[in-house]
Amino acid sequence: MATFSKTLPVLATPDVLVCGAGCAGVGAAVAAARNGAQTLVVERCGFAGGFLTAVIGAGFDGLVDSRSGRVVVGGVALEMVARMGLVPGATDAAQLRGMRFTRNADLVIAARQVAEGRTHLCSDPEKFKLAADRILADGGARVLYHTQVVDVITAGTGTDARIGEVVVANKGGLGCIRPKVVVDCTGDGDVAAWAGAPFDLFERPQPMSLHFRIGKVPASPQLQQRCAEVLRRAHAAGRLGLYGGPWMSSFAPDEVYVNAVRLLGLGIDPEQLSRAEQQGREDTWRIFALWQEELPEFRHGHGPGRRHCGSPGRRQGWGDPGGPPNSVPGTPPGAGGDPENRRPLKTQSQERSADFPLDMVPAPYL
Ligand SMILES: Cc1cc2nc3c(=O)[nH]c(=O)nc-3n(C[C@H](O)[C@H](O)[C@H](O)COP(=O)(O)OP(=O)(O)OC[C@H]3O[C@@H](n4cnc5c(N)ncnc54)[C@H](O)[C@@H]3O)c2cc1C
Repeated sequence: MATFSKTLPVLATPDVLVCGAGCAGVGAAVAAARNGAQTLVVERCGFAGGFLTAVIGAGFDGLVDSRSGRVVVGGVALEMVARMGLVPGATDAAQLRGMRFTRNADLVIAARQVAEGRTHLCSDPEKFKLAADRILADGGARVLYHTQVVDVITAGTGTDARIGEVVVANKGGLGCIRPKVVVDCTGDGDVAAWAGAPFDLFERPQPMSLHFRIGKVPASPQLQQRCAEVLRRAHAAGRLGLYGGPWMSSFAPDEVYVNAVRLLGLGIDPEQLSRAEQQGREDTWRIFALWQEELPEFRHGHGPGRRHCGSPGRRQGWGDPGGPPNSVPGTPPGAGGDPENRRPLKTQSQERSADFPLDMVPAPYL
């Protein structure tokens, strides 16, 4: 145990501090700024978008009703789609509202098998980053990238407890921000947890994933099916541990973007997250090698370009010390919560990937 004491400079005193600039953070910050609040956004990455840009998501889940194809979410989300220029000719949200879209960005769409009367809708990470910068600036929100929230200073107790300052770390060192209101959009509930707010952790967390891109491979739904078959056989033969899908997208005609890696671990545990990054890279190359062995389309494929590990609902428990090749080692069963950091795990369960059905399913094809 070490005690650290330092007087921190107050870097800003905004009306609203938005912590995290994923989709939720962008929406919250734009809405606050447009309503006249002095708004500051802090984001640990050098760009906005969170999962959508850092891990890579090609589809906008929930934006469109898959049965009718109609847009069911408006607001900043729809404005972002317009600003990103994803639909040629549609430059504002009103135009998008009148259209009908495909479900998401899977390869059925890349292969241009778009149902009649529907329009292809696939995200683009780089366009998202630029559009987010612009929508935040236009709205009047200030942004500090490469700035991580590391703690909070609270005043009061019980239901009267309030966050006085949010402690951040960046290349300027440690500092704090004294906002009137804090919006926690970290995806992990970092701010709320450090402030002592109660939270739940799932017993059976959805695995983390690391998406990767392979160049010089002609994407098609048929290839995706064959890729799935190779992984199924490799898993059955014990050559590959937990995996999902694979689900494939494509941002260019001669590449595939792959969501297949599945890593058991707790994304808020620094050790486990680091092991997940390492194991994710191992699995990425393993999957690529399996496809190269069996599928001629991958012979000249350009090795996987990887993104970061992403995990859904990361305040969750896990445990798999004796698990398959792609379980993240190093954490004793029942560990993971750190009372010192006010991140207790509620319960833990021992799971082996063979008993872990979630996400271990073939990709759904239309
Ligand atoms: C493997 C996987 C695949 C998915 N596929 C899709 C898909 O195809 N389409 C889809 O629509 N959804 C998909 N989702 C769901 C999607 O990821 C979430 O719905 C979405 O990311 C939630 O947005 P958010 O802004 O709340 O969180 P996030 O996207 O996680 O954003 C949180 C932001 O906060 C930042 N941050 C975190 N902690 C701190 C801190 N302490 N200080 C400063 N900044 C911090 C992060 O860097 C990040 O930018 C997927 C999720 C996973 C895990």
